[in-house]
Amino acid sequence: MKVTGYGTTAADRDLVPVTFDRAEPRAGEVEIEITHCGMCHSDLHQVRDDWGNTIFPCVPGHEIVGVVRKAGRDVTKFAEGDRVGVGCMVDSCQDCPECRAGDEQYCSGPHSCTMTYNGTKIPSGINTYGGYTSRIVVREEFVLRIPEGLRSEAAAPILCAGITVYNPMKHFGLKTGQRLAVAGVGGLGHMAIKIGKALGAEVIALTRSLDKAEEIRGFGADRVVSSQDPDAMAELAGSVDMMINTIPVAFDVAPYISLMRHDGNLCIVGNMIELEAFSPGPLVFNRITLSGSLIGGIAETQEVLDLCAAHGIEPAIETVGARDINDVLATLEKGGAGHFRHVIDMSTLAD
Ligand code: NDP
Ligand code: ZN
Repeated sequence: MKVTGYGTTAADRDLVPVTFDRAEPRAGEVEIEITHCGMCHSDLHQVRDDWGNTIFPCVPGHEIVGVVRKAGRDVTKFAEGDRVGVGCMVDSCQDCPECRAGDEQYCSGPHSCTMTYNGTKIPSGINTYGGYTSRIVVREEFVLRIPEGLRSEAAAPILCAGITVYNPMKHFGLKTGQRLAVAGVGGLGHMAIKIGKALGAEVIALTRSLDKAEEIRGFGADRVVSSQDPDAMAELAGSVDMMINTIPVAFDVAPYISLMRHDGNLCIVGNMIELEAFSPGPLVFNRITLSGSLIGGIAETQEVLDLCAAHGIEPAIETVGARDINDVLATLEKGGAGHFRHVIDMSTLAD
């Protein structure tokens, strides 16, 4: 089928309208007409080739919500007309210990998991194209159900930003009453505040941008602290049980480690390439865990969608048209500029 969308042929070029073919749904696959797609900072990293692994042309987007238009043979969970979502993965072996444990993102099968874009489709071997498009075809195991109470545009960011912060809170056992710090309040960070509060934590937001403080308190943060103010940071020394750090660039982790309590867990979900050099001494002397975490499994993604619906949690979004994509990427590159998540209204693709 012919599909339209936005993609780029090189790291230094803007995204432009593209047209390409997607294979018709095979057995076990559904065809989804995409209504909305969130814009994650990872989309920017990938199109700019920050990770050095981008296959061009690159068509990003992994916070996808839409409507099932066709269900292939043997599809059992979804029918035409269902409102559904697709996150960062579209396939995995389903058989390795990680997949069996519901951690498909760490699939140790022969091909690892297939990412929604810039992944290798099995068995064809072709590059996957993501959600900045009119339609996508996905095997049903990787399709999520959007709960009744969630608007489509608001559900989209939960499929990456939401699950990425929820997974480490659950996996590392964030407990009611514990102090959670969230570093960097953008797409992931603001969802970490909302979800952390829903899980009963005391939440402290660490931001470079105190001009966002009012809004951040509106997300439920108990305190908003300037990460650039050494005195304010020193006040929190040794007091944080868990930190979700979403900073997307190389940074000095030492001031963040100093906030952690004995046995605390500082989880990096943002920058994946490098940190500035730091002393492990404070980790050693306080048995602090420095950890990382990659998105979350499919069952848990459904769980966080349902949790958000149950708690009335919606991301703070600004809906944009397809023509605005390059402007939004430029905003993300500059460091956020006060917006938390942009979501593309895909009905504007034809404009
Ligand atoms: P955003 O751009 O929406 O938010 C990042 C926030 O970090 C900004 O709002 C800003 O917060 C802070 N920040 C931005 N630039 C800088 C800088 N130069 N120095 C210090 N702080 C900065 O990004 P997302 O939330 O979409 O993504 C964050 C990171 O997480 C990205 O690197 C992305 O690739 C990664 N990611 C990882 C996933 C995983 O599975 N581990 C999944 C999805 C994304 P403030 O103004 O409050 O300081
Ligand atoms: Zn993402």
